[in-house]
Amino acid sequence: MDNLSVSQLAAGLNDGEFSSVELTRHFLQRIQSHTELNAFITQMDEHAIMQARRADKLIKERKHGPLTGIPLAHKDIFCMDGTKTSCGSRMLENFVAPYNATVVDKLEQAGCVVLGKTNMDEFAMGSSNENSYFGPVKNPWNTDHVPGGSSGGSAAAVAARLVPLATGTDTGGSIRQPAAFCGITGLKPTYGRVSRYGMIAYASSLDQAGPLAKSAYDCAYLMQAMAGFDERDSTCMDEPVPAYTQVLDLPLHDKVIGIPDEYFGEGLDSGVREVITQAIAWAEDQGCIIKPIRLPNTELAIPAYYVIATAECSSNLSRFDGIRYGHRCQDPEDLHDLYRRSRSEGFGMEVKRRIMVGTYALSKGYYDAYYLKAQQVRRLISADFEKAFQTVDFILGPTSPGPAFRIGEKTNDPVTMYLSDIYTISVNLAGVPAVSIPCGMCEGLPVGMQLIGDYLTEDKLLNFAHQYQLATDWHLQSPPRYSK
Ligand code: GLN
Repeated sequence: MDNLSVSQLAAGLNDGEFSSVELTRHFLQRIQSHTELNAFITQMDEHAIMQARRADKLIKERKHGPLTGIPLAHKDIFCMDGTKTSCGSRMLENFVAPYNATVVDKLEQAGCVVLGKTNMDEFAMGSSNENSYFGPVKNPWNTDHVPGGSSGGSAAAVAARLVPLATGTDTGGSIRQPAAFCGITGLKPTYGRVSRYGMIAYASSLDQAGPLAKSAYDCAYLMQAMAGFDERDSTCMDEPVPAYTQVLDLPLHDKVIGIPDEYFGEGLDSGVREVITQAIAWAEDQGCIIKPIRLPNTELAIPAYYVIATAECSSNLSRFDGIRYGHRCQDPEDLHDLYRRSRSEGFGMEVKRRIMVGTYALSKGYYDAYYLKAQQVRRLISADFEKAFQTVDFILGPTSPGPAFRIGEKTNDPVTMYLSDIYTISVNLAGVPAVSIPCGMCEGLPVGMQLIGDYLTEDKLLNFAHQYQLATDWHLQSPPRYSK
């Protein structure tokens, strides 16, 4: 069952080859026997079996959809009614959400069975999953290496075949980079395509939820159920959702693919470069037109992002004060002591660093020099993409400059860590969609290519990714220790 696609699982359920309860038990068992990866914060056996029973009933009555009875895991950033929602933080270690995020609601309505909540960098801040209060997640391809972050638990769980599908969120690369590091497929949708309601906010103008799965086809199923307007999120787009699974077979010829100079410069691992070059050659063989392009403001993306994201997080995280939400210290002397100690104890190092940077950037006298300037740079970065998409359909390059690094390798040097998101961050600043597709190996670890599209072209990105996956089998390879 481990390697079956969503449509194969659905067919098995439909034909009575196995029930959703059996499927659910099988994957719960796998999660249980692979706790060394630390991919989950909460396992939800009882709840899952209950949902599976309900799914089996619907299937029997022929009232089911394509995802009914299929197991799924949610990143622990999505509020789920009656369930601990920690966001990878001590601050929310004991927080039980009183309502469902829209994404959780939608996937429940689609009939998915939630097996648990996955580990993540604290408040989604990180690129390696080493910032979780619940400990680092390990990369199933090599457990000395990181799975990427911040949706590292979701990516590791799908890669190790502990669950067929998982949700993630991406503020600067947190779906695509862990997907690349773990050898799976991950889609960051257009900003506003998926509701953010009930998703704990990191940087609200950048955060976006999306699917992680083995293949583009499976991502299309999940995306179909996640996307759509939500009146509870004022930035959610009121645009029709295309039939993602219906357009995957379209031919790719005549598509123009832009190759940005800036994504192949210094800092790119030679093994990664080689693998991406082969993927470009494949696209050319399909009749795509390859066109060199420029995204001249790329080098400004990381500095601009670390002003905007930290500014927004310093504001979003002010609600975690030990009174309204979150961890409260023991025996406070007075109100000030309560705030100070609750926040000191509740937040980890990286979160504190970002709150301090963001508070500084927003303070009187510095606002114009930092925050305003960063917003202007953001505009230039969007304009780079706007211009590029006047002449190309897609932009292709590596998802990350290298394969998964070793646990501990970059923890003492935050700036080097930040640089690992160099190719993913501008996409969030512009708000356009992008997908990471497994496309080869380097030093025994997976490599991902990133395909970026214009606003609301998730269908086209998935179409390209699916065509690539029909011709290659990188997405079908699983870490040897986790394949039977
Ligand atoms: N690594 C980036 C950061 O630390 C992006 C994280 C994300 O996308 N949530 O902010």
